[in-house]
Amino acid sequence: MDLMGRAALVTGSTGGIGLGIAEALAGQGADLMLNGFGDAAAIAAIRARMTERWGIRTAYSAADIGRPDQVAALVAQTHAELGSLDVLVNNAGVQFTAALQDFPDEQWDRIIAINLSGAFHATKAAIPGMLARGWGRVINIASAHGLVGSPEKVAYVAAKHGLIGMTKVAAIELANSRITVNAICPGWVLTPLVQAQLEARAGMEDTTVAALTPAFLAEKQPMTRFTTPEQIGALAVFLCSDAAATLTGASLPIDGGWTAR
Ligand code: NAD
Repeated sequence: MDLMGRAALVTGSTGGIGLGIAEALAGQGADLMLNGFGDAAAIAAIRARMTERWGIRTAYSAADIGRPDQVAALVAQTHAELGSLDVLVNNAGVQFTAALQDFPDEQWDRIIAINLSGAFHATKAAIPGMLARGWGRVINIASAHGLVGSPEKVAYVAAKHGLIGMTKVAAIELANSRITVNAICPGWVLTPLVQAQLEARAGMEDTTVAALTPAFLAEKQPMTRFTTPEQIGALAVFLCSDAAATLTGASLPIDGGWTAR
C-alpha cells in the first residue's frame, strides 16, 4: 500500500483506461477523486466497491475537462474533499475521425480542449499544492498517436503530440521539486473509444467486429493483442513508486510494438 495517505485525481475515470488506473491506485491505498460521465447508480457502485475493497475514501465530480473553469473547480474540490492532490492523471480523452479537408472545426476545437488544454489547466492548478507538500506525480495518458501519426485523426494526433511536449516542459521545470511528470503511450486498448472505431469499420467493410479485430490490430501492432486497462494501471502505479523517483519527462509506449517499427 505505497500510496496510503496520498490523494489521486484521475480525469475520465468512470470507465475504460481511467477506471483501470483509478482501481490500480486505489489498490495501493490512494484516496480517489473520480471524474467523468455516466449513469449515477453505476458510478455510486464503483465508489462503494473501492471503499469496501481497499478502505479508501472516494469523491466524484462530473466536471467537463473541456471547460477550464470546471477543471479548476475539480482540482479545488479534490483538495477540499480529500485534503490534497498528490497524483494527477490526465486521462480524459475523446476521438473523432475524418480526412483533414473534411474535419469539422468544432471537432478540432473539442478534441484540443479536452485532450490537450484540459491537461494543461489541471496540471497548472495542481502544481502549487504538490510544491507545498514537496511531492507529486503527474501522469499524462497520451497514446502511440503522441509518437506517430495515422490518417483521419488530425486533431487527436496533434493533441497527443502536444501532450508529450507539455510533459517534457513540466518535467524540466519541476525536476528538483520531487514532482515527476511522464506520459504513458498506449497502443490499442479495448474500451468504448476503440469499440466505436471497430464497429464503424465493420459497418463500412460489411463484416463483424470479431472477424475484423485480428487485422485491425495487425495493421498497427506487431503484437496482435490488446493492452488492458489493468496493465496501464500497473504502469501508473510504478510511476508513483520510489523506484521511478528519477524517471521524468519520459513518454512510455505500452503498445505491442506499434512504435517500434
Ligand atoms: P473511453 O471513451 O472508454 O473513456 C473515456 C472516459 O473519459 C470516460 O470516463 C468518459 O466519461 C470520460 N470523458 C469523456 N469526455 C469527458 C470530458 N469532456 N470531461 C470529463 N470526462 C470525460 O476512453 P479510453 O479508451 O478509456 O481512453 C482514455 C484515454 O486513453 C484517452 O485520453 C485516450 O485518448 C487514451 N488512449 C486510449 C487508447 C485506446 O486504445 N483505448 C489508446 C491510446 C490512448
